[in-house]
Amino acid sequence: MINEINAKSILSYNKHPSGWFGCRFVMNIYRGCEHQCIYCDSRSECYQIEDFNDIIVKINAPELLEESLKKKRKKGTIGAGAMCDAYMPIEKDYRLVRRCLEIIARYRFPVHITTKSNMILRDLDVLEQINDVYANIAFTITTPHDDLAAKVEPYASPPSERFKALGILSTMGIETCVTLMPLLPFINEDPEDVREIVKRASDAGVKYIYPSFGMTLRDRQRDYFYEKLDELFPGLSYEYRKSFKNTYGVGIRNYRKVKQAFLEECQAHGIKNEMPSYDKKLSSYQLSLFDQSNGDGS
Ligand code: SF4
Repeated sequence: MINEINAKSILSYNKHPSGWFGCRFVMNIYRGCEHQCIYCDSRSECYQIEDFNDIIVKINAPELLEESLKKKRKKGTIGAGAMCDAYMPIEKDYRLVRRCLEIIARYRFPVHITTKSNMILRDLDVLEQINDVYANIAFTITTPHDDLAAKVEPYASPPSERFKALGILSTMGIETCVTLMPLLPFINEDPEDVREIVKRASDAGVKYIYPSFGMTLRDRQRDYFYEKLDELFPGLSYEYRKSFKNTYGVGIRNYRKVKQAFLEECQAHGIKNEMPSYDKKLSSYQLSLFDQSNGDGS
């Protein structure tokens, strides 16, 4: 069900920007997520989304955003893609993300977006404008196999499309990243698959991959995930229950092998294992200016 609302605010302040791509502000235009990944942590009770199938649309998001940016004296990266994917299918008609990006471009704020949808390519022209200041786009890729992704991330773009989109964004000079998470025990923990993700990301011009070698499991999120396992991978929920009981953060079984494969492949392709950010880019730019001016003077 889709519920349109007039929200009171659109940006929340993030006290710890270094934890997620340097985002000082988080912008959620929608609540709930149509991509319906079977492992989605946003189903957990702490996020208070009673029914994850209900999508809330903040129809006054562009007006709220403009009001808010007008008043900000200090620039900071605006992040989208926490707890919902900004480019879920209904964005195609609502175009709220696009309108918000246009406002961000006008006010010259840096942006970071994490997504699993190639709908982001629709907004290339605006992202290019924002990139005069800074734009970073991360695609979450958990498996190189389209058929497996269709099971665990049923309404997101297939990984093959995500790699293509990364290639296009990188060619435009936009900084791209892959968030390689979550890795689900028994399901997508093959070291060769991880190698393939790194290689295909590198082919697409990606310079950063940020991994997490496991997943979270708690309350409603776990119940839904186990329900889906029974439907899609019969017998696997039994293995999970036996192996993890009530543990919140669970690691993949062959952690060492997978991590080693990941690090080897990243090293071979010159990929960094960190989250890029506007602040880091700014300080490396300032550092290079400092080096140049020192060089000139000596
Ligand atoms: S795209 Fe992200 S927010 Fe949406 S269902 Fe998947 S994991 Fe959850």
